[in-house]
Amino acid sequence: MDPLQELRSRLGQLQEQQLLRTRRIVEGPCRPQTTVLGGEGPRPMLAFCSNDYLGLAAHPAVVAGLERGARQLGAGSGASHLISGHHLAHHRLEERLAQLESPHIPGCRALFFGTGYLANIAVLASLADRETEIFSEELNHASLIDGIRMSRARRQVYPHADLATLAARLRASTARRKLIVTDAVFSMDGDLAPLPQLLELAGQHGAWLMVDDAHGFGVLGERGRGSLAHHGLRSEHLVYVGTLGKALGVAGAFVAAHETVIEWLVQRARPYVFSTASPPALAVALEAALDITTGAQGETLRAALAERIARLRAGLAVDPWRLLPSTTAIQPIIIGDNAATMAAAGALQEQGLWVAGIRPPTVPQGSSRLRVTLSAAHAPAQIDQLVAALNALAAQQRDR
Ligand SMILES: *Cc1c(COP(=O)(O)O)cnc(C)c1O
Repeated sequence: MDPLQELRSRLGQLQEQQLLRTRRIVEGPCRPQTTVLGGEGPRPMLAFCSNDYLGLAAHPAVVAGLERGARQLGAGSGASHLISGHHLAHHRLEERLAQLESPHIPGCRALFFGTGYLANIAVLASLADRETEIFSEELNHASLIDGIRMSRARRQVYPHADLATLAARLRASTARRKLIVTDAVFSMDGDLAPLPQLLELAGQHGAWLMVDDAHGFGVLGERGRGSLAHHGLRSEHLVYVGTLGKALGVAGAFVAAHETVIEWLVQRARPYVFSTASPPALAVALEAALDITTGAQGETLRAALAERIARLRAGLAVDPWRLLPSTTAIQPIIIGDNAATMAAAGALQEQGLWVAGIRPPTVPQGSSRLRVTLSAAHAPAQIDQLVAALNALAAQQRDR
């Protein structure tokens, strides 16, 4: 078959299975009240799908940091970090991030990356090799799965939060090097990994514990320092990845680990070595975002977010659908069927409410869902509007 024809037919199959994805074009900054461009022209929408948990993506102080950074440092870094692209702004940001995680990781240093995806594949592909066995949680993010593939390590996927199975597999392993890897907050379910127990297992078996805290850094723990702080952990065998495009509202990620680990990454992590450093102005914007998340304003924003989460959960009555027992800003409602999920998302959209419908392969077959994400930037009345719309849709479902 002609290769173009073949691709067309594969796209056709995706469409038939209700798995075809489309992008919507947003006009203006990331805010709950947003404008979406479409066939019938610009349309106001109330969005419940960003990861901008504290409303920092369009915060004046963060935007001012980006402007100041660009004025003083220009637009681009010019090279990779190991050639000439490692600017003072990057360095200062790294020192500050290392200091934040240092109560949890002795000898802590931090390394700044352009994205969380890149940081995850960099850590896995350089810390693990053919002589490593990686114990990977079933619901881990795609970037972790891809990093494991790149590492060529042996992979053991353990069932979600199943510590007994993980322990048995660790005991049975004869690998020279071992690494346990997990999301700290599961991105599609919103629940927390049992990090204290995982760290204990890692200690018993001489393994690293790599923690992807994309949805925890900035929102969990004292001063928003993330999941290690939330659980009060401390070990030099922790490798922590925090991302900076979600609660921090900008872009990028960092690895925090013992200085020896960081030095190894600088030497050997190909995604670090062979990629242009991100604009130093981003580091200035991120310092402004950290001023907020680690300060008194951060406490206020986190309290507002917690109030929005409680308000949504108290109001929702969505039987026969199932609201997952999440305490975080990620509040999924399981519908199951792909078409029914997209129909529900479509019905909300008709009412100007934007909630992401999530289907396989992002989530397991039969667990398609509406993934509501909340932000401190949502007004209480906006939460109430979503609750009323969801409750009405679920009621229609019950009456069928
Ligand atoms: C978003 C996300 C990433 C990727 O981070 P980016 O900075 O967006 O590339 C990694 N892990 C998890 C769990 C995520 O949700």
